[in-house]
Amino acid sequence: MAGPIAIVGAGISGASLAYRLASRGHDVLLFDDDRPGRATGWNPGGINPLHGPGFPGFMAPIYAEAYRLHADQQEEVQAISGLGFGWKLVDRLFLASSDEEGTALQCMAGHYQALDGFSARWMDAAELARWDGRLDPRWIGGLMTHGNARVDAERYRQALIAGAVRKGARIVNRKVDAVETRGDRIVSVRSGADDMAISALCVAVGAWAGEAIAGWSPGVTVPVRALIGDLLLIRAPGDGPRADIGRGLTAIYQHDGDLYWVGGTERTSGPLGEAYEPAREELIAGAASLMPGWRSWQVVAQSSAARPMTPDRLPVLGRTPAYANGWVINGGGGKGILMSAWLANRLVGMIESDNDPPEVARFSPSRLIE
Ligand SMILES: Cc1cc2nc3c(=O)[nH]c(=O)nc-3n(C[C@H](O)[C@H](O)[C@H](O)COP(=O)(O)OP(=O)(O)OC[C@H]3O[C@@H](n4cnc5c(N)ncnc54)[C@H](O)[C@@H]3O)c2cc1C
Repeated sequence: MAGPIAIVGAGISGASLAYRLASRGHDVLLFDDDRPGRATGWNPGGINPLHGPGFPGFMAPIYAEAYRLHADQQEEVQAISGLGFGWKLVDRLFLASSDEEGTALQCMAGHYQALDGFSARWMDAAELARWDGRLDPRWIGGLMTHGNARVDAERYRQALIAGAVRKGARIVNRKVDAVETRGDRIVSVRSGADDMAISALCVAVGAWAGEAIAGWSPGVTVPVRALIGDLLLIRAPGDGPRADIGRGLTAIYQHDGDLYWVGGTERTSGPLGEAYEPAREELIAGAASLMPGWRSWQVVAQSSAARPMTPDRLPVLGRTPAYANGWVINGGGGKGILMSAWLANRLVGMIESDNDPPEVARFSPSRLIE
């Protein structure tokens, strides 16, 4: 192969791929235009393998492997980049307000007991009140889980990029506008006034998959849409919850020191990357509903980001039908931080072997291409 492998998009997907390719000795050219609303820039960074689309079911071993890949690489990435990104294990309390929710959570406990390094135990209302008297007494109980991990996702992204650069990758802080093709191959990318010859192209553009890159779209437009999520960053000196707590989308997550995230929302329209007043009200009410006795916190920031979501909520990974050396890595949805290591790991294997392993078949872009 002559020329570098180009990656378009340096969110967690493109950054993970750049790190793995550069680690394997490939010549990597990573493009990103730093647009507001990048999903990787504003999220609580949960590395949680026991929840998500396809779980329990065919995604269970994939999520578990993704978790292990992060756990195995995190020290190396911190060491080579010189950047800490706060990898830590966090307890998480799932609250129930009805017997039905309690039964569902107790079923979930079995998955925690079955995976190495994970555990869970049911706490009834009395135990919850002893654990933290600021919780709403309407909770009939909760499942306290152990084993999930957390990162500062934006710093993890930066560490992966810094690590890739240390291993020889080059970064271009610009938009890719067009690709030039010859037959079934992509031969160069255009960014501004520059045309750069490449050996392969990996498109990791997140929720902007519908935006035309001339020559690439619309022939290979993958329907990845923005499912916008709003979060508050709050500060609570000294007295925050001792675990992440939540019910459904409504949750309080530990972040860094006395900072916590309050999430979350799912919306398909409205502003992206800036403070959106209706969401602020909803999030403040959500935090108060979980733990009404906790009043000492203050909002320090609010933003939103675009989860890259496919219609079936599963990732997209594989070669595009149109180009023999064109690849898509996208569709992380609400699990994109967790999935990034697995997707990058498999894509490196596919590029090197020119072969598709059977476990990626259900993520093929062909299932979705418009
Ligand atoms: C509120 C919220 C909570 C979340 N919680 C979790 C969680 O706890 N755990 C988890 O695993 N996941 C979580 N996610 C999901 C996760 O954040 C995303 O799936 C993941 O960050 C997607 O990464 P990405 O690299 O695919 O896309 P992005 O991070 O959006 O990156 C895409 C990049 O492509 C660039 N780009 C686009 N077009 C071009 C172009 N033509 N040229 C150059 N650059 C281009 C953009 O500038 C951008 O930087 C959450 C998401 C949100 C919004």
